[in-house]
Amino acid sequence: MTNGFVTMAYLISGIFFVLSLGGLSKQETARKGNLYGIIGMSVAIIATFLGGQVENFRLLIPLMLGGAILGGILAKRVEMTSMPELVAILHSFVGLAAVLVGLASFLDPSHDLLEGTNRLIHDVEILLGVFIGGVTFTGSVIAFAKLRGSLSGKPLLLPGRHILNLGMVGASIWLGSRFLDQAPDQGLISLLTVIAISFILGVHLISAIGGADMPVVVSMLNSYSGWAAAAAGFMLKNDLLIITGALVGSSGAILSYIMCKAMNRSLSNVIFGGFGTAGGTSSKGKEVEGTITETHADEVAQELKEAKEVMIVPGYGMAVAQAQHVVKDITETLREMEINVRFAIHPVAGRLPGHMNVLLAEANVPYDIVFEMDEINADLPEVDVLLVIGANDIVNPSALEDKDSPIAGMPVIEAWNAKSVVAMKRSMAAGYSGVENPLYFKDNTQMLFGDAKDTLSAVFSKLNG
Ligand code: NDP
Repeated sequence: MTNGFVTMAYLISGIFFVLSLGGLSKQETARKGNLYGIIGMSVAIIATFLGGQVENFRLLIPLMLGGAILGGILAKRVEMTSMPELVAILHSFVGLAAVLVGLASFLDPSHDLLEGTNRLIHDVEILLGVFIGGVTFTGSVIAFAKLRGSLSGKPLLLPGRHILNLGMVGASIWLGSRFLDQAPDQGLISLLTVIAISFILGVHLISAIGGADMPVVVSMLNSYSGWAAAAAGFMLKNDLLIITGALVGSSGAILSYIMCKAMNRSLSNVIFGGFGTAGGTSSKGKEVEGTITETHADEVAQELKEAKEVMIVPGYGMAVAQAQHVVKDITETLREMEINVRFAIHPVAGRLPGHMNVLLAEANVPYDIVFEMDEINADLPEVDVLLVIGANDIVNPSALEDKDSPIAGMPVIEAWNAKSVVAMKRSMAAGYSGVENPLYFKDNTQMLFGDAKDTLSAVFSKLNG
């Protein structure tokens, strides 16, 4: 294959990747988006194979097959609630790959032949690639370990940690400038020291963030891994890697922004603060006083039968209980009774963006009854029964009513405006943010305690009984 063909194939892959991102942004087109991504990557691999730069097929093919089989098995096995973990460990691979590509580019004999500006540009690419890659690598490993529970979720707050971070960045810049001035045979020590510092910086930066904030961190590391891949693309003079890296880098940054906005927090608050550690806010919000009203499956089933408008607000607890299938069964039964059932989805319900949409799609809940929070809040006063299934923070009125609450200002689904609310959870425990929820104490709220799958199964059998 000539260079022209390879470039053309890479361009086609790039277009497929853009189409893939577009498709993945909506539930209805997500499958198509996935398919576009697969086509784009297949074209890219074939073009790279035929491009003439790859020679060692005997080593490459078994390695690729091994990786593909392992990846396939892991992706099949992973639970939706563990998805951030898988994504974190995959990012660590991208980071490590960028470090190795940087090191290999430096050790490549053709590097010594570069001169003047070409050499300077190439060395800056190497430095950026190994530095971003190093931070991404160890940072993602720590994020993975925290999400998995192998490392404590508590933030490690060393005294003077910001100065330490600044010192490490400063030392890397100084070593980097030395590296640029050094002859090719002398730069290795400086480069290896930059790599070592970037590894330590990644560990330190992410260790200082609480386990609960890891999903946002994973999205941020996703962005870093993209930029590291783009730097590797420059080093390897591979246009497609540059395009793909830039797509991943910018989409990761946009996703982090969307997540932070939906939680009404800034990225710096996530990185340097954390829920309950931000200055001036009380860590649990106002003490809630009052009594709760408990209900039972048969009463809920009766209420549902008598309703005309039902709204379902799923949250993290639905994912933990894996209750999406029985939710679908209840929805079907109610729709057969000519009751209008709709779903209200908060942008950060669960533990990763789109978490609820994926679970509902897995259970074959029709897309046209699933609505975003902004589309639904105004309709809530007309809802007869609103079921809150394992959701907590995303329906917490203190976000709007208590300006000292750690979640003050976070947009929420205004569940309390419905005529009757049934909140399903196992206990009175707080949600992700650790903030008490006054919704449970409102006059129009009843609590249905228990694992969501068990309580919903009981409601389902009473509905049909
Ligand atoms: P929350 O974590 O606020 O609440 C989940 C509730 O589910 C808990 O109060 C828990 O109560 C209940 N629960 C847990 N297991 C079960 C079960 N088996 N059966 C029934 N109930 C159960 O989740 P939300 O979805 O309301 O809010 C998401 C939170 O996560 C927000 O604060 C958001 O900012 C944050 N977040 C979201 C991200 C995203 O991208 N989606 C990323 C990072 C953070 P109990 O223990 O009493 O059962």
